[in-house]
Amino acid sequence: MKLLTNWLAVTARLPRQHKLALASLSLLVGAALVWQPHPFSPKERQSLPAVNQRQEPATVDHSEPIEQSMDANDPALSVPEDALEQDITSEAPRVHHHTVAAGDTLGEIFSQYGLSIGQLYQMLDVNDKAGDIRRGQKMEWQVDEEGQLLTFTVYQSIKYRDDYQFGQGTVDYQRLETKGEFESVTLIGRVNSSFYQQARQSGLTPNQIQNLVSALQWRFDFGRQSRRGDQFAVQVNREFIDNKPVSSGKVTAMLYKSGGRDIFVYRHHDGRFYDQQGQSLDRALRRYPTAKRYRISSSFNPHRKHPITGRISPHNGTDFATPVGTSVLAAGDGVVVKARKHRLAGNYVVIKHGREYSTRYLHLNRILVKPGDHVSMGQRIGLSGNTGRSTGPHLHFELLKYGHPVNAMKVPLPEAHPVPNDERRAFQRQAKRTHQALAQRLNG
Ligand SMILES: [Zn+2]
Repeated sequence: MKLLTNWLAVTARLPRQHKLALASLSLLVGAALVWQPHPFSPKERQSLPAVNQRQEPATVDHSEPIEQSMDANDPALSVPEDALEQDITSEAPRVHHHTVAAGDTLGEIFSQYGLSIGQLYQMLDVNDKAGDIRRGQKMEWQVDEEGQLLTFTVYQSIKYRDDYQFGQGTVDYQRLETKGEFESVTLIGRVNSSFYQQARQSGLTPNQIQNLVSALQWRFDFGRQSRRGDQFAVQVNREFIDNKPVSSGKVTAMLYKSGGRDIFVYRHHDGRFYDQQGQSLDRALRRYPTAKRYRISSSFNPHRKHPITGRISPHNGTDFATPVGTSVLAAGDGVVVKARKHRLAGNYVVIKHGREYSTRYLHLNRILVKPGDHVSMGQRIGLSGNTGRSTGPHLHFELLKYGHPVNAMKVPLPEAHPVPNDERRAFQRQAKRTHQALAQRLNG
């Protein structure tokens, strides 16, 4: 509640529209403190014992001692980057995406992705309509090593987008207009040294490569599986003004041939890639790493303040009030990358889920997996405990997206839904036609 009070104090000095935006933001954050989301599908939810549908009475809120804030980038707790990951981020910071969901406010979005509230204020200062966002709207951003925003873009429509560029304590705001015509362009290549190198030479931007590598993360690992001689054809929707390309455009399809294997993905109008049959390329992730729902003893809070020193001491995970010995379950399919002891984290496990996500499970009593193990969603990986720096028995659970801690209880998670039934047939027709066209380019 301390945080809320601080925000309210700040709001008192702001103009009216800021106050409105922030009031809805504060309300939602307040609601988030008591709100228990229902991430399970209706079927899964039914299978939960009724007693877990409501909160247990509050007892002591066990967590980590607040002055012992854990470093989110501690190498001992992080997933090491492979060569492809280093290539991908060597030229341009990764682009993060979010589609506005019902009830989202800009403040809530900043909070769940651990973005700077100070930078949100800066945006409101230069554009008092910055807080007006609608469901379904797309936004993207880039952050530096410290998690400070470099750019933030909100797509208002196909034609207009709001663009914020952050400098040293400054922000430039512009409403940009799309003026050109869009045209499909096919880029082709044959892998020589590495997929990344070849993709760049073929004209793909680092951002487009990031997108493809992420979209295909569960079907093909470009870091480990791509070989010399592999061929690819990528269809890009490029913007032209007076016949000159003015944007790198959006990737709409890719055909990748490796050995005897053909991998083809096609982008639906929902913005997601699917295979030719319209099946999802994603694997689902769960929000809760336990079979039953436990009370949250301390929420994710990137802006947590130490009550005495006033220092920001982020809480990068969600703490659950699990009694010692509770089974801890993998949040999704993946590979165990760390399973050992840490001075602050106690016995801990880190799992890598594809390329985009990783999860951390801290203060375990016992670890039941070892590095290199492949685990599936719901598999038991340890027993919760009270090891390391902890004020009492609890499970500290973290979800990281491209290495940045995000709110596991709030951020949209991959769900692995296929193209909706009524759109499937049309999708498949279109995808097949594109697949054939790309195959022809590679053979021709
Ligand atoms: Zn914690």
